[in-house]
Amino acid sequence: MHEKFKKLETIQAKKLPEWKRILEKSVVNAKDLPKVCQSDADDIKKVSELYPMCINPYYFSLIKAKDDPIYKQCVPSIQEVQDNLPEDPLSEETTSPVPCIVHRYPDRVLFTISNKCAMYCRFCTRKRKVGTERRIITKDEIIQGVLYIASHPEVRDVILSGGDPLMLEDGELEDILKKLRQIRHLEIIRIGTRIPCVLPQRVTKELCDILKKYHPVYINTHFNHPREITEESRRACNMLADAGIPLGNQSVLLKGVNDSPSKMKKLVQKLLSMRVKPYYIYMADMVRGTNHFRTKLETGLKIIKAIRGWTSGMAVPHFVIDAPNGGGKIPILPGYLVKCEDGKVFLKNYQDNDYVYTEPN
Ligand SMILES: *Cc1c(COP(=O)(O)O)cnc(C)c1O
Ligand code: SF4
Repeated sequence: MHEKFKKLETIQAKKLPEWKRILEKSVVNAKDLPKVCQSDADDIKKVSELYPMCINPYYFSLIKAKDDPIYKQCVPSIQEVQDNLPEDPLSEETTSPVPCIVHRYPDRVLFTISNKCAMYCRFCTRKRKVGTERRIITKDEIIQGVLYIASHPEVRDVILSGGDPLMLEDGELEDILKKLRQIRHLEIIRIGTRIPCVLPQRVTKELCDILKKYHPVYINTHFNHPREITEESRRACNMLADAGIPLGNQSVLLKGVNDSPSKMKKLVQKLLSMRVKPYYIYMADMVRGTNHFRTKLETGLKIIKAIRGWTSGMAVPHFVIDAPNGGGKIPILPGYLVKCEDGKVFLKNYQDNDYVYTEPN
């Protein structure tokens, strides 16, 4: 290439923000994975034609070995095309009054505003559509979503979701936030995003300056493993918290990734240390292509038993099953309440000791 052209190219490249430059270098083809993966390249190619692979260099750098907990979350497995679970077990499509809204609960709605993610999680509940041509979200559909909320005075809470809402450009996101904030009955805006975990460089001063104009804004992020907590993700969470945004975390219980009490305990403690409050641990949904990640209920119960009482109460998330057929999130607790009989409440504490509380007459 001529020297002059080369120069021009590097100047233009510099204009892109860091997070976009990182995204541009994502691995999307099996052949671009390291040598150790090449024995599975045909399988990976086959699966990624149906469910896209996109591993940005930041998230990729967290992998230490083939089949480790980070690898399993981002590299396709042939098992994704070997189960026969339903595509949409939560019946999101049938509880959807307009294309981008799921209205399941009385006072809040889920609003999917992006179909892209900074990395495609292999266990994704919406893998039927994220990152694919099967579902592109149009500007018109976003306007329809805003109008739906505006015309439903019972909606006091909106959860921006996707895909990942923070994959939108700053301007696009601000446009939506501005429109939502004009709705008088809408009290809080929540954003569900995996960005602080999978592409923390996306959290910029500019982004924080936008978000804090539309308070109360809450963010629920999505870390699944203690190794996902790095200097970069700490910086991102600190910036968001400094912008006055309360941070929560939603994890999915995943076989071979975080299905052990010690891993989860470490995760929730580390989350608190960067001002992120563990909010939910989900039992993995019964979604097609994700069966190999599912665990027994007992695994989740053991995790809660290993956290509650043994470490800060602030660190304890709700363990929930998002019920099939749109039943919503149902909390599951280990047996702390043994029974109630004749005004006596029989209890077990975290150490399995028995106690009795007497109710008033
Ligand atoms: C999870 C979810 C919500 C929010 O539930 P909270 O328990 O309030 O966090 C709202 N709508 C849908 C469709 C959901 O899946
Ligand atoms: S970031 Fe969320 S929506 Fe995107 S692939 Fe992962 S789990 Fe699915």
